Amino acid sequence: MVKEDWRALLEAEKTLDSGVFTKHDLLLVRGQGARVWDAEGHEYLDCVGGYGVANLGHGNPEVVEAVKRQAETLLAMPQTLPTPTRGEFYRTLVSVLPPELNRVFPTNSGTEANEAAIKFAWAHTGRRKLVAAMRGFSGRTLGSLSLTWEPKYREPFLPLLGPVEFIPYNDVEALRRAVDEETAAVLLEPVQGEGGVRPATPEFLQAAREVTREKGALLILDEIQTGMGRTGRRFALEHYGVVPDILTLAKALGGGVPLGTAVMREEVARSMPKGGHGTTFGGNPLAMAAGVAALRYLERTRLWERAAELGPWFMERLREISSPRIREVRGLGLMVGLELKEKAAPYIQRLEREHRVLVLQAGPTVIRFLPPLVIEKADLERVVEAVRAVLTQ
Ligand SMILES: *Cc1c(COP(=O)(O)O)cnc(C)c1O
Repeated sequence: MVKEDWRALLEAEKTLDSGVFTKHDLLLVRGQGARVWDAEGHEYLDCVGGYGVANLGHGNPEVVEAVKRQAETLLAMPQTLPTPTRGEFYRTLVSVLPPELNRVFPTNSGTEANEAAIKFAWAHTGRRKLVAAMRGFSGRTLGSLSLTWEPKYREPFLPLLGPVEFIPYNDVEALRRAVDEETAAVLLEPVQGEGGVRPATPEFLQAAREVTREKGALLILDEIQTGMGRTGRRFALEHYGVVPDILTLAKALGGGVPLGTAVMREEVARSMPKGGHGTTFGGNPLAMAAGVAALRYLERTRLWERAAELGPWFMERLREISSPRIREVRGLGLMVGLELKEKAAPYIQRLEREHRVLVLQAGPTVIRFLPPLVIEKADLERVVEAVRAVLTQ
C-alpha cells in the first residue's frame, strides 16, 4: 500500500472512532498462522491472537473455504427458519461437550452469550441474585457488565443489575457464604483472563458446583476465552471435571468470524418461555458454517494437545529469564501471564516497536500471551528472547 494511503486510513480510524480504544500506531493488513503484517510489510509475531479469537491461526484455510462457500450459498436466515448449517453446528458442538449440555442458544459475541445465560438462569430459578468473582470479566453490555468486577469499567454505569455479590476468586468459604436460597446463578471463568491470567483451583470450581446444586442455583462457566483448546483441553472444564448448567463460548468458536453461544441443560432451556429471548443475527448461516469448520479443524488437529505441550514449556522458558522485574509467570496451556512488579505497558510497547512481537495486557502489571495454538516452537522461542531483551536491558 502506498504510504500516503495507509497513513490517511490509519488517521481516519483514529480520528473518526468513538475514542474508547487506545489504538496502536500501526495498520495491520494481513495474517497467516501466528504472523501478521503491517502496511509497510513488516512481520509481527502475534501473541494477542485477536484477544483469543485466532486459536486456529489467522487465515485458517478450512474456515476461509467454509466462509466462501457459505457466502455464495446463503448469508441471511433468521432462527425461525431452519437452515442446514445451523443443525450441523449444533450437532457438532454438542458432540464435543459433556452430554448434559445439549441445548444451544447462538449469539454474535461473548457478552451476548453471558446476557443469554443470565436470562436463562433468571427464567429457570425465578430468582435474581447473582454471584461473580473479583477480577472477573464477563463483558461490557449492561447485564454482563454487572458481573464484570473492574470498578473502572462498572462504576460509571451504576446502577446495574442487582443484587450481585463479588467474592474473592478461589475462596471456597466466601463462595459458600455468598450462595443462598435467593441466588439464581454463580458465574465464573475457569481461568480469569482479563483479570490477570489466574487459573481456578479444582477445589473452588468443585465447591461452586456443589453449593449451587445444594441451593438450587445454576452454575454458569464462562469459557469465552478458555474454550477451543486454549488451556490444553478442548474446554477448560475438562481439567476440573465440573459440568456447569450453562456454558458460554465465543472468541475462537467461529475461527475468526463473530460467533458466541450459551449451551445449557435441557431443563434450563425449557424454562424460558417461547419468545422470551431472541436475536436477529445470532445463528446466521455464515457464522454457523465458520463454527462447523472451526470445530472440525480443532477436532482433527487436536490443537489443545499442542497447547498442553507448548504452554508449560513456554512458561518454563519465561521463568528462566533472570530479571528482578518479574513477580510471577502463571497460566494454563497457551493462556499465559507474566506478572511484573511494575507497570506492564512500557514493556508491551517495546516488544512491539523493538521486536515486532504483539502481546496484550491483563490488568496494570500483567503481560498476557494468547498466541494462535498453531504457533511454532521456534516462534515462541523468539518471543521469549524478545521478553528477555526488554526486561533485562
Ligand atoms: C472476551 C470475554 C468476554 C466478552 O466477549 P465479547 O465478545 O468481547 O463481548 C466475556 N467473558 C470473557 C471471559 C472474555 O474473555
